[in-house]
Amino acid sequence: MHDDTIAAIATAVGESGIAVIRISGPSAIEAAAPYVRAKTGLKDAATHTVQYAKIVDPATGEAVDEALVTVMRAPRSFTAEDVVEISVHGGIVPVRRVLDLLLAGGGIRLAEPGEFTRRAFVNGRIDLAQAEAVMDLIRSKSERAMKVALKQVEGALSRKIGELRQRLIELLAHLEVNIDYPEHDVEELTSAFIRERSGEVLAEIRQLLKSANEGRILREGIMTAIVGRPNVGKSSLLNLLAGTERAIVTDIPGTTRDVIEEYVTVSGIPLRLLDTAGIRETFDVVERIGVERSRSALTDADLLLIVLNRSEPLHEDDRTLLGQAAGRQAVVILNKSDLPAKLDEAEVRKLLPGTAIVPMSVKEGLGMDELGQAIADLFFGGKLEGGEAAYVSNARHAALLKQAEQALVDAIESTDAGVPIDIVQIDVRTAWERLGEITGDTAGESLIDQIFSQFCLGK
Ligand code: GDP
Ligand code: ZN
Repeated sequence: MHDDTIAAIATAVGESGIAVIRISGPSAIEAAAPYVRAKTGLKDAATHTVQYAKIVDPATGEAVDEALVTVMRAPRSFTAEDVVEISVHGGIVPVRRVLDLLLAGGGIRLAEPGEFTRRAFVNGRIDLAQAEAVMDLIRSKSERAMKVALKQVEGALSRKIGELRQRLIELLAHLEVNIDYPEHDVEELTSAFIRERSGEVLAEIRQLLKSANEGRILREGIMTAIVGRPNVGKSSLLNLLAGTERAIVTDIPGTTRDVIEEYVTVSGIPLRLLDTAGIRETFDVVERIGVERSRSALTDADLLLIVLNRSEPLHEDDRTLLGQAAGRQAVVILNKSDLPAKLDEAEVRKLLPGTAIVPMSVKEGLGMDELGQAIADLFFGGKLEGGEAAYVSNARHAALLKQAEQALVDAIESTDAGVPIDIVQIDVRTAWERLGEITGDTAGESLIDQIFSQFCLGK
C-alpha cells in the first residue's frame, strides 16, 4: 500500500459540462474533508454515496465552487484505496482552482501520469493486461476498438491467459514428478502428456494470435485506398465517409490532386482512407505528382475500394484497374446507382471473381451498411460483434504470445526427438513465463515502470 494521497483531474481537460477530480490514498477522506462542506461530513459519509457540497477554502471559509462529492472506501474503489471524487463545473479555470486548493494544503500531492492505474495494479485490483487496456480505452479511435479495450478491462484476455497458464502449470507439476521418479513406463505416458497438453495450449495461443491481427486493425485502422478513374465519385465517397467537405469535389476530371488521408469508421470499423487522384495515365505535370502518390497509396493499402460509375458502360481504364486489383483485398463499389444502370455487372464479376460488389449512391448516401458488411466479411470473417472472444490488441501481448508459441513448438519437437524431460521442462516453463508477462504475474519492475509512464495525467 502507498502511504501518500494523490489527486488529479480525471476527466479530459477542456470544455465540458462537468469535470472530476479524483483523490486516492489512505488519507484521501481525511485530507479532503476540510475542503468539503456537506450535510454529512466526509468522514461520516457511507461508502459509495454521493452528496451535494460546497468546496471551501479552509483558510478563509469562502466557498469557491459547488460540487457533487462521492466517497468510495477501500477496497471497493478503482485503486483499492480510499477514494474521493469531486465533480465540479467543467472548464479549465474552475477545475484548476479546486485542484490547486486541494494541493496547497500539503496533505495531497499531484498524481503522476498513470499513477491511479498503477495503484490499481499494485493493489491487485487489475492485472497488467487490464492496465494496458485502460490506456487503449483512453486512446481508442473507433467504437469497435473501444469495445475490445473494454472487454480487456473486464478481463477477457486475462482470464484466457490465466487458463492457459493453469494448464501449463499442471503439465509442469507432472514433469516435476517424472524428473524426481524416473521410471520407464511413466516416461512414455509423460511424453504423450507433453504432446497433448502443449498441443492444446499451442492451438489456443495461435487462435489468440489470429485475433491479434484483427486487434491491430481495430487500433490502427485499415489502410484503405479509394481508387477509380476520374469523376466516378471518389472524392464524394470520401466526403460521405468523413462527413465533411474536405476533398475537392468537382465535375472536371482529375481535380483531386493530392492524396488526402482521413480517419473514418464504416459500421464501426476504422479505416485510414487515402483518396487518390485517379490512376489513369496523364501528362499533366501537376496532376502527375498526385497520381504518383496515389500509386504508392495503392500498393501500400490493405484494402482497395474500387469505385466504378454504374451509369456508364465499363471503361478500358476500369478494366485495367480491376486487372491490377487481382489478388488484393478489395470491394467494388458501383456508384451512381440512383441513375439508370449502363454497366455490365457480369463483366466486372468475371474480371475480379470472388470480390464483393456493392451498389451505392454516394450522392444519396445509400449503400453504406452493405459496404460495412463487405469490409467486415474481408477482415473479420463477417463477424462484426466481438462476442465473448478475447482479443489481442496490443503489440506487446502479441510478441509475448509468439515467444510462448515458439517455446511450446520447441517442447513438442524435443519430446519427439527423445530429449530428456528435464530439458523439455525448460521450454514449457518459458511458455508459462512469457504468458505471465502479459498479465504482469512474471513481469519485472522496469517493464511495469515503462508501461505506466505511457499513461496520461489523471489516469
Ligand atoms: P472523383 O473524380 O472520382 O473524385 O469524383 P467526384 O467525387 O469529384 O464526383 C464527380 C461528380 O459525380 C460530381 O459531380 C458528383 O456530385 C457526382 N457524383 C458522385 N457520386 C454520385 C452519385 O452517387 N450519383 C450521382 N448522380 N452523382 C454522383
Ligand atoms: Zn476526386
